[in-house]
Amino acid sequence: MSFTVAIDGPAASGKGTISRAIAEHFGFAYLDTGLLYRAVGKKAMGFDCNPKAAAKLARELTADDLAADDLRSAEVAEAASKIAPIPEVRAALIAFQKTFAKQPGGAVLDGRDIGTVICPEADVKMFVTASAQVRAHRRFKELTDKGEAITEAQVLADIQARDARDAGRDIAPMVAAIDALVLDTSAMSITQAIAAAVDVIGEKWPVGNG
Ligand code: C5P
Repeated sequence: MSFTVAIDGPAASGKGTISRAIAEHFGFAYLDTGLLYRAVGKKAMGFDCNPKAAAKLARELTADDLAADDLRSAEVAEAASKIAPIPEVRAALIAFQKTFAKQPGGAVLDGRDIGTVICPEADVKMFVTASAQVRAHRRFKELTDKGEAITEAQVLADIQARDARDAGRDIAPMVAAIDALVLDTSAMSITQAIAAAVDVIGEKWPVGNG
């Protein structure tokens, strides 16, 4: 039996941490779809990529590309959000995500268009968000802990630019699905946010609460 949890939201909203915790709690498979776009963005970095070439990079992604350890950098995030509006790139990545979502035993996917485009029939949809300042502070800590030399003001500017690109594009823009539960984590600890999400899913997951 398949059971799909679709989680969308902006950068550093906590959606990745929440999704991983949900997957662990309920025994679902987890796909961070941002990694697909990051891997394509990384490959496209440094040259002027036309839509056809970018789509080819997307079609040829390998498991190794997704495991690269520098995909989480601010630079790669920016590159990802620049190739993400290309329709041919998104089209090349759809089938893999849809198949992943339908696997037996349950799946949780997080991204920007999961509840709206990839899994409009998901069993549970959430849009996890937080203020840009709170998100910038979280991401700044994450990046500096990993040794990236960046200021908090720069992280805030990057996040705001990325939000604008992701929400403003014509294709699959970042938006809460009409039937998504909006979870604002600005004033929540990560433990509280996970507990809230687990409660929502526990009410719908027919096998029980983990
Ligand atoms: O989620 P993450 O911050 O890793 O995503 C990186 C970028 O990939 C986003 O800013 C967005 O441009 C793109 N993305 C997307 N659709 C998704 C997931 C990510 O367009 N489902």
